[in-house]
Amino acid sequence: MKLIIFGPPGSGKGTQASILAKKNKIPHLSTGDILRSKLEEGDDLGQELSTIMSIGNLVPDSIINPIVADKLLSNDCKNGFILDGYPRNKYQSDFLIDFLKKNNLDIDLIIDFIADTTTVKKRIMERSRIENRSDDNLEVIKTRLDKYFAETQPLAVIFKEKFKDKFFEINATQEITKIQYDIENKLKNAQI
Ligand code: ADP
Repeated sequence: MKLIIFGPPGSGKGTQASILAKKNKIPHLSTGDILRSKLEEGDDLGQELSTIMSIGNLVPDSIINPIVADKLLSNDCKNGFILDGYPRNKYQSDFLIDFLKKNNLDIDLIIDFIADTTTVKKRIMERSRIENRSDDNLEVIKTRLDKYFAETQPLAVIFKEKFKDKFFEINATQEITKIQYDIENKLKNAQI
């Protein structure tokens, strides 16, 4: 099973990706988590990531593209993966589509989490209280959402055209269990 989970910060992608990964025993590749763990190493790269991520900007493609490529080729991903947080702009999307083609990998499904700004802001503020993530404050959230709507969301048009009926929208303002149910149904119908 090879899935891409797509949607704004705070739409619940991470939660669903992690449930699906556990159920299907495949890795959950969250680029945000991968970058946060690199940041914690505190070396030069970590410092650079910290500066960029703390203000809600995107990490350069030259850093994230090879990280994702390496992961996708690793043994862990031989039975599938759930990609969460990538691709996030046109360069990443072009890179990924080309990479998949070169490596004979097919995506089974792209799930687009649809949620309004008020809902996601509320959820991120709540997460901020619980997890104490340094990029979960109102000003940084605004930057992350602006980036999402400017650079990431427009990719949905490309995905729809490229992946056709493998691209599927989900109402991400619903309860966790209902979203889970909708995804399971879609996977079943698509015989994945
Ligand atoms: P969210 O989507 O909730 O903002 P993530 O955990 O997915 O949070 O990402 C946190 C931060 O990590 C982003 O604001 C960005 O700085 C960086 N990041 C994650 N994925 C990418 C990516 N594909 N390209 C560039 N930067 C990324």
